[in-house]
Amino acid sequence: MLDALFKPRAVAIVGASTKELSIGNVIIKNLQTYGYRGRIYPINPTAPDVRGLKAYKTLDEIPGEVDVAHIIIPAKLVPQAIEDCGRKGVKAVVINSAGFSEMGEEGARLQEAFLANARKHGVRVFGPNCQGIINTDPALKAYCNFTFTYPEPGSVSVVALSGGVGALIMQGLFDLGVGMRMYASNGNACDVSIPEILRYWGDDPGCKAIVLYTEGFSDPKEFLETAREVTARKPILAMKAGRTEQGAKAASSHTGSLAGVDIATELIFEKTGILSFQDEEEMVRAAMAFATQPIPAGNRVGIITNTGGPAVIATDVLVAAGLEVPALSETSIARLKATQLPQAALGNPVDVVATAGGDQFRAAVDALQEEEGVDSIFINFVTAPFTDTHEVARQIVAASRNGNKPVVCNFMTDLTQERYRVTMGILKEGGIPFYATPTAAARALAALARYGRLRKRDIGRPETFPGTDAAKARSIVDRARKAGRSVLSAAEVYPILEAYGIPVAGWKVVQSAAEAVAAAGSIGYPVVVKVDSEAIDHKSDRGGVAVNLKDAAAVRSAVEEMQARLGAFGSLRFFVQKFLPGGRELILGARAERELGHLVMFGLGGIYVEVLKDVVFKIAPVTGVEAREMLASIKTRALLDGVRGGKGVDKEGIASLIQRLSRLLTDLPMIREMDVNPVLAFEHAVIAVDGRIRI
Ligand code: ADP
Ligand code: MG
Repeated sequence: MLDALFKPRAVAIVGASTKELSIGNVIIKNLQTYGYRGRIYPINPTAPDVRGLKAYKTLDEIPGEVDVAHIIIPAKLVPQAIEDCGRKGVKAVVINSAGFSEMGEEGARLQEAFLANARKHGVRVFGPNCQGIINTDPALKAYCNFTFTYPEPGSVSVVALSGGVGALIMQGLFDLGVGMRMYASNGNACDVSIPEILRYWGDDPGCKAIVLYTEGFSDPKEFLETAREVTARKPILAMKAGRTEQGAKAASSHTGSLAGVDIATELIFEKTGILSFQDEEEMVRAAMAFATQPIPAGNRVGIITNTGGPAVIATDVLVAAGLEVPALSETSIARLKATQLPQAALGNPVDVVATAGGDQFRAAVDALQEEEGVDSIFINFVTAPFTDTHEVARQIVAASRNGNKPVVCNFMTDLTQERYRVTMGILKEGGIPFYATPTAAARALAALARYGRLRKRDIGRPETFPGTDAAKARSIVDRARKAGRSVLSAAEVYPILEAYGIPVAGWKVVQSAAEAVAAAGSIGYPVVVKVDSEAIDHKSDRGGVAVNLKDAAAVRSAVEEMQARLGAFGSLRFFVQKFLPGGRELILGARAERELGHLVMFGLGGIYVEVLKDVVFKIAPVTGVEAREMLASIKTRALLDGVRGGKGVDKEGIASLIQRLSRLLTDLPMIREMDVNPVLAFEHAVIAVDGRIRI
């Protein structure tokens, strides 16, 4: 339990300083200024008092119990300080000092040393190299942190590894007038981890929504489990930095180079139902809506506007985000007709026109609250100088409380005028989230709807596939590993695929032209001949694939020709395979991701895969729902349905293949990378014709 950390009754400051603007002084000042209700004990070996508070030479001298101790002393003194804290019975320490694992080996050793002392005494460690925590609860007002924003109490809690981004988010919420519940910025996070904090806040009834900023996960599996539990109860809005391709290491196989840098974090967010954001401002603005509004039951938006253009912009943004702006029912239109000004346009958007006053806004919001065809309400409110804008704001507030649909407002005005600041205050007091542009407001509403969809999305459990032969697949891999080989040959890859029920085209490995002709006879013409050598990665690049061979003469000459040309690669094997013309070329692949398991890839395959990069990823195990989502999320998905009278392909067959591949990866964790490219998809069949596995 993190109660001692987040609800401390007494805080000691080890390294309290009389010097203004030093961290050991600022933290005390923050506690005092913010109105901390507990006791503050500065520890300073020489000063009799700090900031008007009696100072103690050591922790031992403190008369009462201490829940949290800030540690603000040089790194090399920290292990001893933690030992002292343990003896004193301090429950948690916030180590603000830096100079630990972030500074290399010696720092890491110090971190290990103080952690050992902390564990011995059962002291929880927050940080090191961190800001600290804030609890805005009016009964406590714990500001154990050295930042500068003094948040209003509220229902949004913020956790960020980076103190800089944490402060940015906190200030962003403050600027929007959004209250905060708790704040945590835990730096190196050597003990108290983000999953633990999420779980704690998941259980906190005062927290309605969580905002998370991270730069990666030390234990992605733990994060996955915890986040999935928490998002089922309350929204987590998250952002991850470092999403450009710049750092992406060039991997040799398709799958390796197609996965961008740290694609895994985004996939973790998706799998757990976390709302992911690309932009910190957008995330903070969305938090404003989550703090006050219910989650819409669906995607349908009713728009009320007193000016035309902004409603058009809002509609574009909403529709692009997957929302709908449907026509209103006859009943609603009739109601509006009875209540709106004669010039009003009665559709969706409802244009109440610029002269509309409180009555018209009230009636319009009421009508949309009642309208069964919409799930949320978007208002464009430009403060026309000839209207009573206070009354409009009051009526919007009153009407929003009259129903259970979320209301989001684009409030366009001049805030240098006192009059409109009062109007804004009415909206704010009334809990209406409002934004300065139609785009910002529409995006915030879209985030509410996105969470509504995520909460309804149940990815289910991975299916089991009877008849798979895991033992056979494993023995093939083990044999290759014992032989010291990391790349499996075609003769190994195909049986592994077959063991998991992944259909492969009829095949045979041969050594000579004569054997190839015999194999072709038994497989049945037409056939394909491919060179089969570990040294050759992409066979067709080397002229190592000959397709549509219709007779023995063609097979013989294809083999002899490859022998002549590719002889430099040593003695060659060949691979004879049934030729299957006319299929859609798809790719299935996988890549092992440290600490997380495998990422499974699906997309448009064939030889253009690197050019088009139309692939999507999921974290294994992939469920049926997720496999179908993969099919639906590639850019060229329309090709799977058939274009211009062409036949569609067996999508259920592909979904099953993706899941079988996922199962194979779960059973064979030693696989580092694999590609099945292409899988040929036909109307009633899906068949693999090329595979590569690296262990
Ligand atoms: P590589 O990827 O090593 O170049 P492939 O075995 O994938 O070699 O073959 C290259 C291309 O040849 C495939 O993308 C596909 O277009 C075609 N091809 C290969 N095998 C077959 C087959 N059995 N039936 C039809 N086309 C095939
Ligand atoms: Mg290939």
